[in-house]
Amino acid sequence: MWNQSSRCANFIIKRQPGLGGQAGLRRWLSAPRLCVVGGGPAGFYTAQHLLKHHDRAQVDIYEKLPVPFGLVRFGVAPDHPEVKNVINTFTQTARSERCSYYGNVAVGKDVTVGELQQAYHAVVLSYGAEDNRVLGIPGENLAGVHSARAFVGWYNGLPENQHLKPDLSCETALVLGHGNVALDVARILLSPLDLLRRTDITASSLAALACSKVKRVWLVGRRGPLQVAFTIKELREMINLPGARPVLDPADFTGLGNAVKDAPRPRKRLTELMIKTALEKPAEKTEAAAAREWGLRFQRSPQEVLPTADGTRARGVRMALTRLEGSGDSAKAVPTGEVEELECGLVLSSIGYRSLPLEPALPFDPQHGVIPNSSGRVLGAPGLYCSGWVKRGPTGVIITTMNDSFDTAQSVLEDLQAGVLDVSAPREGFGAVGSILRSRGVRPVSFSDWEKIDAVEVARGKAAGKPREKIVDPEEMLQVIGH
Ligand code: FAD
Ligand code: NAP
Repeated sequence: MWNQSSRCANFIIKRQPGLGGQAGLRRWLSAPRLCVVGGGPAGFYTAQHLLKHHDRAQVDIYEKLPVPFGLVRFGVAPDHPEVKNVINTFTQTARSERCSYYGNVAVGKDVTVGELQQAYHAVVLSYGAEDNRVLGIPGENLAGVHSARAFVGWYNGLPENQHLKPDLSCETALVLGHGNVALDVARILLSPLDLLRRTDITASSLAALACSKVKRVWLVGRRGPLQVAFTIKELREMINLPGARPVLDPADFTGLGNAVKDAPRPRKRLTELMIKTALEKPAEKTEAAAAREWGLRFQRSPQEVLPTADGTRARGVRMALTRLEGSGDSAKAVPTGEVEELECGLVLSSIGYRSLPLEPALPFDPQHGVIPNSSGRVLGAPGLYCSGWVKRGPTGVIITTMNDSFDTAQSVLEDLQAGVLDVSAPREGFGAVGSILRSRGVRPVSFSDWEKIDAVEVARGKAAGKPREKIVDPEEMLQVIGH
């Protein structure tokens, strides 16, 4: 195991006596100039670890959007404000005198990774997963079908999704997938407006949800109750959602109480909660008391999105019924040959996010949607590293991303220590990149610029009784800071 105390940059000095002592060596070695691409959790945690364990490293974070924090701002559900407290830690990192944030810089477009590598001793790619997996079935592109990613971006103020206009005039929505994102979107669709009003959900999505006719949400998974990917806290939240009743079929859980006896505790407790919910009928969750409902459907794999008679939009999804081959997490869903049609007016496909290559020439594994790496070292590309979802794939909560980013930062520190990264010559860092950006008409947004945007958002939110009212138009963000 790596020992925390040995992580400090001073190890370089201690391991090379006879070079004129610490001060002499410090003069001889230039301070490592390191760069992180992406201002989400992975980018900030990587920077935090590098700054904490190397007392001379300077870290610059480049972010595509003017505003920082990635999925903490644009993914985490508006009714989960406590999760967003990590922003305080990220802010501390950004305020370090050895750290700079440059928003409004799309790496791969405004500046290339090669140009960054010229300007820095090492570059860490932490740009997340900005696309989503597709089902690859007929009808997927019909009106009324959206990725959960776009729907989440819509209600969370992600600029690219502000024109989504999901049609909420139907009564039944289908969410395809059994992960936590599926539960997030189902909960937002069914939450009482009074709960959402007090969150940082955007004003326009709140207005659309206020007119929503959706009163029933089916969450459909291709495998069984023992393979759901969501977690117990999020399921419990759904079960306790005021005004919405769970509709779980006890038949789906027959014999599962016994089957999970020896399962790992989280899986056991999660299954027990589903069984209990299927069997119980609390008074406040009767059909008369709760106007809205939601349920879990299992062993149904989407086969085709069915069009309305005029062919213009979705009216339902044909599902292939499946049986499971194998058991536990690795069980495979195999079509039985039977099909079933589920009627709905809105389909949200929540089958996972997907990373894309930043530039065609950079190493990328299209099959797994990750940058091929060993402990964050990009294979075949010395001096290039990766962390977060683009390193590991689009799963894992913020803590997972933190650990993974620390691991990558550790690899950078080890490579500095071992001399794999040559820091004998200084690098210009933003000095060089800033000139390139200027020549291309790109104006970066600093962290103090972001703090101005933040203050405006918080002030607008206060007036509306919300923690913030997000600015959703990048042009307006830039206007606020006088760009
Ligand atoms: P991201 O958060 O996506 O950050 C990547 C950053 O890189 C973004 O800011 C992006 O704009 C930037 N970028 C992209 N391309 C470029 C480019 N070319 N140049 C410069 N910058 C670029 N975890 C929890 O613990 N609790 C939750 O409640 C929770 N809710 C979630 C809800 C949703 C809908 C999703 C999808 C995930 C949720 N997670 C949650 C998981 C958590 O968000 C991830 O673990 C984490 O955000 C991954 O961090 P990342 O930095 O790898 O990616
Ligand atoms: P996920 O957890 O990987 O779930 C994806 C779901 O899609 C699974 O049920 C999967 O089923 C299904 N699926 C995948 N491909 C499919 C296909 N072709 N057809 C049908 N179903 C398919 O992904 P996610 O929900 O996007 O979440 C991403 C990560 O963010 C997770 O780690 C999650 O925990 C985290 N997150 C956390 C929170 C929170 O903490 N509150 C909130 C949101 C997200 P199979 O299992 O059969 O493949």
